[in-house]
Amino acid sequence: MKLRLLLIAAALTALCPYPAAAAKVKHPRLYVLDCGDIKPMDPTLFGLKKEEIAGDASFVTPCYLVVHPKGTLIWDVGQVPDASIPDDGTEAVVQDILKAKRKLLPQLKALGYEPKNITYLAMSHYHLDHTANANLFAGSTWIVQQAEYDAMFGATQFAIRDASSYDKLKDSKRITLNNEDHDVFGDGSVVIKTAPGHTPGHQMLFLRLKKFGPLLLEGDLYHIPEERTLDRVPTFDFDAAMTRATRVKTEAFLKETGAVMWIQHDPPTNAKIRKSPEFYE
Ligand SMILES: [Zn+2]
Repeated sequence: MKLRLLLIAAALTALCPYPAAAAKVKHPRLYVLDCGDIKPMDPTLFGLKKEEIAGDASFVTPCYLVVHPKGTLIWDVGQVPDASIPDDGTEAVVQDILKAKRKLLPQLKALGYEPKNITYLAMSHYHLDHTANANLFAGSTWIVQQAEYDAMFGATQFAIRDASSYDKLKDSKRITLNNEDHDVFGDGSVVIKTAPGHTPGHQMLFLRLKKFGPLLLEGDLYHIPEERTLDRVPTFDFDAAMTRATRVKTEAFLKETGAVMWIQHDPPTNAKIRKSPEFYE
């Protein structure tokens, strides 16, 4: 009888495209999701000449889900809204260069999560390659720096912004930070780090994973590894001096903690990373 039930359960699991329930975790877990890639750009936008870089200035755009025993956090939410991606797997392109084939919500659902199970939303910054699906998480608590909030909703028109992707966040439950770090679950394992410069309230995500160790997701502090090695700042940064100051502070932080830093947009970095449903813990 028991075997029969097990067989039925196995058959049902095989039929169901998604696992029914999210994993119960004892320690924080990180999933890396596929939110598309970006066609090659002009490296001079990033302060670099073509001959100075190893790659072709094309980018990847991951999204990340952190699952902690006390809740969940989604970090960066893509560059093409789910609603614009066809169901048949054809690639959608917005703004001529931002591409995506995979929707974000089905990737979460495959892990057992829906927006209502996402406790916190945090984005590195307001640029449209990080905010595409933000409105889907208007029911989560949004963690944002005050300076970024002001840039997103204030009267001044900032570039590289798509306000329609995040306008529903205006009245979201919110944790507003004043150029400061924030320990999301109170145990030091998931920390939002203030990192202004690229945008006024740019931030990064620091994780202490039990097996992997300390890991920094650096938002767009760097895009191309040569920005770091040759000390170049993108021409479109909000404040280049502020970016440099944040970089100095971040490099010291990496030394002090021994953390690994993943340059989020860097294709070779991303290629070596395990993707969801695999995870880091
Ligand atoms: Zn970006």
